[in-house]
Amino acid sequence: MEESDVQRLVLWVNAKWRNKECRLCGKNAWAAPQLVSLQVQPVLGSYVIGGTQLPTAAVVCTNCGNTELINLIVATIAKASGA
Ligand SMILES: [Zn+2]
Repeated sequence: MEESDVQRLVLWVNAKWRNKECRLCGKNAWAAPQLVSLQVQPVLGSYVIGGTQLPTAAVVCTNCGNTELINLIVATIAKASGA
């Protein structure tokens, strides 16, 4: 994830998250978001190589390891394909 995208996502999180404390441990100790990609499976048990992917960022609590996932299309960091 490019640094400018990380900064935009941090701004988005600060604007959208009402509670900044981790829901599991109560600390506000988040690491910088990292890009992950979630694969969407149309049917349970099927795997499609190169199938639909959801651009996502993982934000990890550095105190307890809780990991929150943010959809980058909703966060306006990534554009939906065909949009
Ligand atoms: Zn935590």
